[in-house]
Amino acid sequence: MTTDAERKMQFLFALRSNGITESRVLSAMEKIDRGLFVRGLFADRAYDDMPLPIECGQTISQPSIVGMMTQALRINPRDKILEIGTGSGYQAAILGLLARRVYTVERHRKLVQEAKALFKSLDFANITCILSDGSYGLPEQAPFDRILVTAAAEDPPSPLMAQLKVGGIMVLPVGQSDTVQNLIRVTRTEKGYDYDDIRDVRFVPLVEGLGKEV
Ligand code: SAH
Repeated sequence: MTTDAERKMQFLFALRSNGITESRVLSAMEKIDRGLFVRGLFADRAYDDMPLPIECGQTISQPSIVGMMTQALRINPRDKILEIGTGSGYQAAILGLLARRVYTVERHRKLVQEAKALFKSLDFANITCILSDGSYGLPEQAPFDRILVTAAAEDPPSPLMAQLKVGGIMVLPVGQSDTVQNLIRVTRTEKGYDYDDIRDVRFVPLVEGLGKEV
């Protein structure tokens, strides 16, 4: 039988062997219990390095991808971050440990309610979860130091580009939703935007409008 301590060691080992080397990122991922965010049938797989289904037909991303995106953001402790696609709230919780302020936007009401309850139970006073279509960003809180999009669009949505500070970084998957997408980093400079490729990924699509409630 595998003990909790062994599972945690395997979890951290999987992160390191996938290139997550920054100690702040590793220690944030060590602190946040993914098991709290994966409920139901798949709870016992929470420490495996794989994406898992959550409610509303969505997925919680694979831990090594969460680590990779968090590392690619190069977060400073004073940063104000916008995340699009709260999902389970797992990624937002990690951002909440690393940055001053996190706004996370989700189009499914049920996911927003559950994530809010989790943030409260974990005493995250610096995370605000909002029910909205994240394709438009969050103009009332813009500009942001960092933006992370956890659903794939064909191109970086222009409202998000506009809501990034000069010197700010956005990490997002781009490409068609039914194929492999490209995780990219966009850095806003005085003159425009610089782009670099990180790796191939597969994310659920960024969908317009609010989710239908069942
Ligand atoms: N970051 C999440 C995983 C996200 S899965 C986690 O840590 O668990 C992608 C999420 O993006 C889904 O929950 C989906 O409902 C949401 N989403 C898709 N399109 C959206 C949009 N336009 N605005 C806000 N959320 C969106």
